[in-house]
Amino acid sequence: MGFGRAAGSVATLHEARTARDVERVVADARAAGGRVLARGLGRAYGDAAQCAGGELVDCTPMARLLELDSEHGVVRAEGGCSIASLLRTCVPRGWFVPVTPGTRHVTLGGAVAADVHGKNHHRDGSFGGHVVALEVVGASGTARVGPGLDPERYWATVGGMGLTGVVTEVTVKLRRIATSRLAVTTERAPDLDACMARLTELDAGHGYTVAWVDGLASGGRLGRSVITAGDHAALDDLPAGMRADALAYDPRTPLSVPVAPPVSLVGRGTLRAFNEAWYRKAPRRRVGEIQSIAQFFHPLDAVRDWNRLYGPRGFTQYQLVVPFSGADVVRRTLELLQRAHVLPALCVLKSFGSASAAPMSFPMPGWTLAADLPLGSPALAGVLDEIDGVVAGAGGRVYLAKDGRLRPELLSTMYPRVAEWRAVCERHDPEQLFVSDLWRRVAAVA
Ligand SMILES: Cc1cc2nc3c(=O)[nH]c(=O)nc-3n(C[C@H](O)[C@H](O)[C@H](O)COP(=O)(O)OP(=O)(O)OC[C@H]3O[C@@H](n4cnc5c(N)ncnc54)[C@H](O)[C@@H]3O)c2cc1C
Repeated sequence: MGFGRAAGSVATLHEARTARDVERVVADARAAGGRVLARGLGRAYGDAAQCAGGELVDCTPMARLLELDSEHGVVRAEGGCSIASLLRTCVPRGWFVPVTPGTRHVTLGGAVAADVHGKNHHRDGSFGGHVVALEVVGASGTARVGPGLDPERYWATVGGMGLTGVVTEVTVKLRRIATSRLAVTTERAPDLDACMARLTELDAGHGYTVAWVDGLASGGRLGRSVITAGDHAALDDLPAGMRADALAYDPRTPLSVPVAPPVSLVGRGTLRAFNEAWYRKAPRRRVGEIQSIAQFFHPLDAVRDWNRLYGPRGFTQYQLVVPFSGADVVRRTLELLQRAHVLPALCVLKSFGSASAAPMSFPMPGWTLAADLPLGSPALAGVLDEIDGVVAGAGGRVYLAKDGRLRPELLSTMYPRVAEWRAVCERHDPEQLFVSDLWRRVAAVA
């Protein structure tokens, strides 16, 4: 299953400890006419890391950090190494990952395959822009690729959702930090226009920005939000007591959801109360609050297995991006979800900066909105199809790493370079050995 715990499929799982293990799985599958796919930590929400009836390469045992150049901030690690584990080693030495998604529990291979973005996209772009080199085990053998070394294959792998092969090694440039803390500005915005206007202003002055949006607020309060903007704190920003251990990094996971409850615990009443409290508790404006890396970047990681709260039906995340000219699609999306009585449980809004060179990369300059949606509402499929049409009509797209339901008709409208990317995949993998449930669905292939 994906992180949304819906629509799983059955495959044979192979634990890969080395690139040689991966090569063996690929060779055996090829000889048997089977299908193969890499799997990392399973944080894609839908079916991107599933390969029904095929051979799934579990990359997580391949998790060693191979080399850290502490002077220049370049790290080489195996494809199954997680951002969590990288941070544990790099932060105390004064280095941070160039891009982190909203959870640290993703592998480097998964970060490359989805070309992940973070709160700094407006300034630093997505993950693939910071990679120096990759080792990829593909259908036709093992290759080293990078932006300057077989760039075509490199950019096809970035955002390629595992379909060019298994990434067994990643070399990536890190960011120098003086402390392990962030200096954070928090502001409330009363509605969507105010939120977008302030995010735009804060983008100009801060490395990291994002807004939590109350997805249930409607009418004049539609889009009311809590904006956070942050930057890595300098030593002088820290209170004296923190300076001695300025690079301390010890994230905790104090809570967990041990089993999935029989019904979803995310209901309209609790969500409305939570959103109201969250909005009211936020300061109108607070500047210079010191937060840890875990608080600022990975607050959801504080509760292990929180995705189980959605009960046996699971949930999906709908994440769209539209060019700035299509900003109104954000409002329309919230209105359509509300009208359909679908529960936007956790909504996040951010502006993106420049797109990457990768043909299948999700981000483009514009607004991105992500909403966690519990499955089970009869209106959900219809309203998301309707929103897809609005998004595509505005020149936008949905994020395949979160998707479990996009119809194939819209793929080439949303990803206009898909044919160019497929041609590269098929040049290296003419038998289409690498396939996922996601790809079978969106490309309608057997
Ligand atoms: C709470 C939460 C917050 C998130 N926040 C963000 C965010 O802010 N920004 C963002 O961009 N994404 C975000 N994501 C999505 C997540 O970053 C991506 O789905 C990422 O790809 C997951 O990595 P993984 O190791 O779990 O890969 P999986 O989920 O296991 O796999 C995802 C895809 O990557 C491929 N893949 C995995 N490993 C390899 C490999 N070694 N070689 C080749 N292909 C591979 C798989 O085939 C699959 O197509 C979030 C997810 C969660 C659960």
